[in-house]
Formats: sequence, structure tokens, C-alpha cells
Amino acid sequence: MMRTVTVVGASLAGLHAARGLRDQGYDGRLVIVGEERHRPYDRPPLSKAFLTGEGPTGDGGPDGGLGPLALTDPEDEAELDAEWLLGVRADRLDPRAGTVGLADGRTLRTDGVVIATGAAPRTLRAAAPPGVHTLRTLDDARRLRAGLRAGAERVVVIGAGFIGAEVASSCAALGLDVTVVEAAPLPLVPQLGERMARACAALHAAHGVTLLCGTGVATLRGTHRVTGVELADGRVLPADVVVVGVGVRPVTGWLEGSGLALDDGVLCDEGCATALPSVVAVGDVARLALPGTGRTVRAEHWTSAAEQGAVAARNLLAGATVQPFGALPYFWSDQYGARIQFAGRREPGDTVRIAEGDPDAGAGPGGGFLAVYERDAIPTAVLAVNRPKPFTRLRRELARAPRLAAR
Ligand SMILES: Cc1cc2nc3c(=O)[nH]c(=O)nc-3n(C[C@H](O)[C@H](O)[C@H](O)COP(=O)(O)OP(=O)(O)OC[C@H]3O[C@@H](n4cnc5c(N)ncnc54)[C@H](O)[C@@H]3O)c2cc1C
Repeated sequence: MMRTVTVVGASLAGLHAARGLRDQGYDGRLVIVGEERHRPYDRPPLSKAFLTGEGPTGDGGPDGGLGPLALTDPEDEAELDAEWLLGVRADRLDPRAGTVGLADGRTLRTDGVVIATGAAPRTLRAAAPPGVHTLRTLDDARRLRAGLRAGAERVVVIGAGFIGAEVASSCAALGLDVTVVEAAPLPLVPQLGERMARACAALHAAHGVTLLCGTGVATLRGTHRVTGVELADGRVLPADVVVVGVGVRPVTGWLEGSGLALDDGVLCDEGCATALPSVVAVGDVARLALPGTGRTVRAEHWTSAAEQGAVAARNLLAGATVQPFGALPYFWSDQYGARIQFAGRREPGDTVRIAEGDPDAGAGPGGGFLAVYERDAIPTAVLAVNRPKPFTRLRRELARAPRLAAR
């Protein structure tokens, strides 16, 4: 009998798991613990319109300053009927005692636990003087935005993954001089494969942003403020603001000693259930088994974080995995006015068929393309740049044949 469920992590995945519990009839005590002082808010705008000032500002507004970024409203919160413990970190899980310990010394007795602690940015080994930013939270975004508006002219973005590329695009839209440094010979190859990665990377140059690939960062220059980035090959890039976007690591430190299997995330079965009874994990922190493959996958995308909640809630309440999380992976990214969308599971060696448009022609007005990844002539994934309609159709088709995408 579950009288109390504690959700640790008050963001997208935790919120959806909490909603999932209520939607499926759980009427016991629901506690949501969040390290940030904010109620759940949406992160994707933080690297995009929030920085350029074209979209949700996240300043002011009745909901603790979240404004349109807020993922809940008072009606929603009333329905959830949760106890929100915000601005406090959970620092231990003791499954035998059935407790979650908080960093302020409190101990919560609980029957079920939803782990939704997401991911945190990786940092460089070099010491970071003021003016060097990472971007994960609203507070990070506010600091970065203030730094960009305080007379910055030259921005160096370290890492050309999706977040780095979006920040570069936003800084270019603000009229700043932007250089992106990427250690790999070409960014996004693991996600998109070489040919498509090249087409997406070309967006930088087409919008006046310099992309330097194949070089690492030796050190960050500046003592009282950052003044530049020294590359491993000796070049120095002057900078007023540096943004480090070199990936994230799942937030699992607080689970050490809990008995949970941790390996680049919390290891779960295909239904978000961990090896501990009544403990499930969702969102960026969860590493799910991929049935029939012997592999595990951890997504870092909005849609998976949102969709896993209902499945995890169902399995938590059932006390066993009665439903797998079978949704097709999907993410989008907005860069330089282009919408990039990807769905499915690409593997190295998949071939690419261009179904529409020309990847080499850029993504300007009327541009863009639709690419289908195939294995043995069977579609495994689809990528679109500015082709939302046909993309959605193909995404649906792939989702209806999940076995093909999951092989
Ligand atoms: C700037 C930015 C732009 C993005 N853009 C896109 C996009 O365009 N498309 C896309 O598909 N995805 C995008 N994403 C990814 C998407 O936002 C994430 O996949 C999603 O936020 C994951 O949700 P989550 O709840 O699992 O983790 P998070 O959103 O990271 O939330 C985890 C929460 O847990 C809290 N927490 C951590 N440890 C503890 C603890 N010990 N105790 C209590 N609380 C704790 C954290 O403070 C945080 O609030 C973007 C992400 C960022 C940061």
C-alpha cells in the first residue's frame, strides 16, 4: 500500500511522473523535492528566444518569476495536490529504511520514489574566471543573458552540440562576433552521421559564425574576467563571454550507496523500474533497457522526459513493470531560423536517402531537406531541416513500426 510517494527533481520529468500518478488514481501523499527554488519550468527556450529576448522572458509573472516558462499553473497545482519542497537537495536514498534524506537534515519517510534529477553540465578542467558560463537552469540563463547584454562583443562557444549551436545562433542573432570550438573533426556525427552532420554544421558559416573543429581547449585566459580561450594548437581566441557546452552528466551522486545500479544514469528496465522495489527513474537521469538488443539508452530530450512519467507512474503503482516505455526517440533544435527535427534510432552504417530538398543548398527561405536513414532498405530514423509536415508523417510511420526503429 503506497501512502507516500516522493518525486526527487522538480522539473519536466518529475512533474509528468507526478501528474501520471494522480491521473492513474494515486491519492496518497505526494512530495516533490527540487534543488532549484523554482517550480517546474521549460528549458528549451533558455538557449533560444530567452537569450535573444524574442520569447518567454522568465522574468516577473505571478508564478515565482517564471512567467510563460512555467510548466504548471495554479489550477494544475491544485489538481496535483503535492507538497513542494523547493530549494533543497536530496542527498541520500535509503531503500531499507524507506527514506529520502535532504541536505538540510530532514528525512522523508516514503513508500515509493521517483528519481527525476536530470543532468548537469560537464565543465572544463581549466579554472573558469567570471564571464565563463554553462547553461542548464533558468538562473544560468539569466546570468548568461546579463553577460551578453553587458557590452559583450566577442563570444566563444566551446562545444558544437545542440546546446552550443543554439547558443551560438542566439548570440549571432544579437549581432555578436561568435566562434564555436569543437574538439571532434565534425560536430553531431554520433547523432546524425557524417553527411547530415556536415549539412547542419554548415548553418554556422552561413550565418557568419566561425566553426573551428578538431581542436581542444588548453586553457581559459583572464583572472578577474575571461579575456580569451587558448586552444590546444596554440591559437588564442579573444572573448568577452565564453559558453561551455560540452555535454551533460546524469545527476546520480546522491544515489551512491543506495544499492541502485548506476552507470551513466540510473539503470532501469524497459519500463523505468530500477532494481529496487518501488523506485523508478525518469527523464535525463534514467538509462532504460532496450528490449531485444542487450543495450541500454539514456535520452537527453524533452519528449522522452515528458513521456516517461506516465509509464513510470503506472509501473510504480502496479509494483511491477506492466508497461514498457516504447516511444520512438524524438528531438528538435532551433538554430539560425531553421528547425531541425530528428526521430528514430540511427546506427553507424545506416544509409541516408534524401527524400526532399538538398542538404547542400543551405536552410535559407525555401531551403531545408528531409533525410531518411535506412538499414537494409528499412527506415530507422528521419531527419528534417525546415520540413515539419513530411517529417511528422514519417515520424508517425516509424512510430507505428517500432520494431524497425529499435533493432
Ligand atoms: C538550454 C536547454 C535547451 C534545450 N533544448 C531542447 C530542445 O530544443 N529540444 C529537446 O528535445 N530538448 C531540449 N533540451 C533538453 C530538455 O530540456 C531535457 O531533456 C529535460 O529538461 C529533461 O528533464 P528532466 O526533468 O529529466 O531533467 P532536468 O530538466 O535537468 O531537471 C532535473 C531537476 O532535478 C533537480 N535536482 C537535481 N539533483 C537533485 C537532488 N539531489 N535533489 C533535488 N533536486 C535535484 C535539478 O535541480 C533540476 O531542477 C534542452 C535543455 C536545455 C538545458
